[in-house]
Amino acid sequence: MRGATGGLLGGEGLGGGAGSLVSGGLGSLGAGALGGGGLGGVNPVSGLTSLLPIRGLIPPDINPEEYSGQFQGDIVLDEPAIDYMVNQYAMVRSAVVVADVRWPNNTVVWQFNDNDFDEEQQAAIQEGMQLVENNTCIRFRLREPGETVYVNITGNATGCYSMVGYGAVRGMHVLNYAPHPPGTGCLRLTTVVHELMHILGILHMHSTHDRDNYVRIVEENIAPGMLGQFFIAGAQDVSNLGVPYDYLSCMHYSSNAFSANGNVTIEALQEVNGVMGQRDYITDSDWLRINRHYDCPGAWDE
Ligand SMILES: [Zn+2]
Repeated sequence: MRGATGGLLGGEGLGGGAGSLVSGGLGSLGAGALGGGGLGGVNPVSGLTSLLPIRGLIPPDINPEEYSGQFQGDIVLDEPAIDYMVNQYAMVRSAVVVADVRWPNNTVVWQFNDNDFDEEQQAAIQEGMQLVENNTCIRFRLREPGETVYVNITGNATGCYSMVGYGAVRGMHVLNYAPHPPGTGCLRLTTVVHELMHILGILHMHSTHDRDNYVRIVEENIAPGMLGQFFIAGAQDVSNLGVPYDYLSCMHYSSNAFSANGNVTIEALQEVNGVMGQRDYITDSDWLRINRHYDCPGAWDE
């Protein structure tokens, strides 16, 4: 699949050195784009497993979601998402834009996959949901029998990763937390929320369309084949929702993400009063981004 992706998206699609996103758009990750059947037969998830070998090089303090073997580390590309990128590559963007990738009624329907987590691990994940509920108008509701569109929270040992946003055509949405001890790895509270923000439709901070005004991607330090991790989203596909660029966002990657040599791959162009890539807390801007994406009451007042 890596080959297929590389072939289709080539230098311009993924490799151009651009990259990332915030929220809002990426509409085609949602319902619309399935029709064309773009990559028939290709499994976008397994294809990216070529990233997995580098995990052996990961320093122990790294953010695990950066190395979970998916597109941009932890974003699961399903067929609509691949179609989006193929279409973007083909410069027919307007054809694939879908207005809304938000969960209806601000409500994420979810379940735990059977027997994947013990009680403490389940509590750690639900603590993240509670934190989101406490700071936004988002609600999480357990799947009821017969419901076909929902998030299946799995505990495969393959890292932490998630689909982005809501897509009715997906049916079951993928969200995975490797079942680490609560408070560590994928079950660190801020990392739990990081993946929940993906499923709510938020992309990585450093992928937003104007990120080059705030960070410099240092290509010469990026590990071979990893340039695609620094994908930049188009301004027509994502929105910053009027929220300033946030170096401390829990959706930002660390300064040495995907480094080949330990040197920085993401260089801040302004002073950062904290640690880029921190996973100790969720910032006010992170919450505001969710609240504005879902038009929560008061989110646009200031
Ligand atoms: Zn992520």
